[in-house]
Amino acid sequence: MNGLMMQQPLLISSLLRHAERHHAEQEVVSRRCEGDIHRYRFKELAARARRLAKALRALGVGEGARVGTLAWNTYRHMELYYAVSGSGAVLHTLNPRLHPEQLAWIAAHAEDQVLCFDLSFLPLVEAVAAQLPGVKHFVLMSDRAHMPADSKVANLLCYEELVEAQDDDYAWPLFDENHASGLCYTSGTTGNPKGVLYSHRSTVLHSYAAALPDALNCSARDVILPVVPMFHVNAWGLPYVACMVGAKLVFPGPGLDGKSLHELFEAERVTVSAGVPTVWQGLLAHVEAQQLHFSTMRRTVIGGSSCPPAMLRSFQEKYGVEVLHAWGMTELSPLGTVCTLKPAQQQLDAEQRYAVQAKQGRAIFGVDMKVVGEDGAELPWDGKSSGELLVRGPWVLSQYLKGEGGDALLDGWFPTGDVAHIDAQGFMQITDRAKDVIKSGGEWIGSIDLENIAMSHPAVAMAACIAARHAKWDERPLLVVVKKPGAALSKQELLRHYEGRIAKWWTPDDVLFVDAIPLGATGKMQKNKLREQFQDHLLQ
Ligand code: ADP
Repeated sequence: MNGLMMQQPLLISSLLRHAERHHAEQEVVSRRCEGDIHRYRFKELAARARRLAKALRALGVGEGARVGTLAWNTYRHMELYYAVSGSGAVLHTLNPRLHPEQLAWIAAHAEDQVLCFDLSFLPLVEAVAAQLPGVKHFVLMSDRAHMPADSKVANLLCYEELVEAQDDDYAWPLFDENHASGLCYTSGTTGNPKGVLYSHRSTVLHSYAAALPDALNCSARDVILPVVPMFHVNAWGLPYVACMVGAKLVFPGPGLDGKSLHELFEAERVTVSAGVPTVWQGLLAHVEAQQLHFSTMRRTVIGGSSCPPAMLRSFQEKYGVEVLHAWGMTELSPLGTVCTLKPAQQQLDAEQRYAVQAKQGRAIFGVDMKVVGEDGAELPWDGKSSGELLVRGPWVLSQYLKGEGGDALLDGWFPTGDVAHIDAQGFMQITDRAKDVIKSGGEWIGSIDLENIAMSHPAVAMAACIAARHAKWDERPLLVVVKKPGAALSKQELLRHYEGRIAKWWTPDDVLFVDAIPLGATGKMQKNKLREQFQDHLLQ
């Protein structure tokens, strides 16, 4: 016997309709590529998204067609989020930090028909346009005044002119909630990038879960500034969550340096933010150097790579900003776990609380997870049995676009490639990525633990621990370190810092000081590059 409730498809357009109807006056503020601050309200966002949907239709963008974007976090990108998906087409956010060859490969693989891009990326688009025969329209996301007099891109269209040419008399179409809504490619640290195709249903369900108090905890009383780019897994869902809950949105545009961000946090009274650790490092360095503080910031979500406990302490102890350590993946839309303490843990002393907060946290409702050993059998939740982390849920991918990479699932579970353990309270902790694991004499050494200890030394700005080949033990940990500007630190002093903090045999065999550690397109350390460079260091 079926229930007798309405069948309303879960559509992305319904999020915007809700925001327009119930939070019409809520603000959306953006630092623009043109250099100024732009502000309008949800009602204007909604009206312009409808006009844009009409404009896309006039360009021949039909159901399921891919519309690529190369854009910062701004109101125009937000309009595209809703206009493209809401009208039944597929929003394909491209990462502008990728190599041009790789970008062209991804846009061709995705069969993008339209490419909308910010002013900053005009040179990039000019460089790759010839390699994109499938793109019928190039749209510069600016006004007539900022259009180049002559561009190597033929028939360059002006975003504002497209919007202005339409009225907002447009009804969002109704269709099956399982229709594709968005497309993101994994960064392809191993092999070619693969496309993850979200649906309206997966996106709306993910938004519900992400907004919950023990997840990102967002409400109409919040001012959300997503530092995490809208080209990186939908800014972790925040553009959807903000409409769902009616929160004010602040978009940093291209200004991702500590100074620009801090100014915006203060001027717009931001309460919640989110980003990868490397961004927060820049922000904290600026705030520390200028002796600033945060007047309204209450929480920040840190994920994408492990949040060093030293960063957690700085935010919480010096600045009163609560850190929500979170774990996710492109394949999970992206949220899987968030580290929000349970009541008994709130009573722990500070050190024990920090130990819990360093974990990636517990599953949000909708995500089921387990760790398995090499034989595939599930391991106990004892906080120490490490194995590969597997997940499943309605916003976890079932296969990659065009079936790339073959079967993505293992008995209905998605193998994440992360190595983790889960404790009795259900808190998951990542110890490594499978491909970053250090296997010394047959035993695993967790590189993240070793990096966190290095990062807790006051002279260390960044640390990566990699597996280096070793004549006797196969692999041993090698630490690659960037010192803070002007700091003095010797290898011996840093290795002494490990004493008592870790089993002795985990201590890195050597420390290399470098000027910089290469970062990938999403701001994560590229340990594969370091491995290429230094993997034979211990053999020399
Ligand atoms: P990519 O594989 O392209 O870097 P994602 O951006 O989807 O793609 O990154 C997902 C991976 O990032 C996870 O599998 C995990 O290894 C890592 N990751 C994400 N959040 C965390 C975290 N809080 N701590 C440690 N690693 C994390």
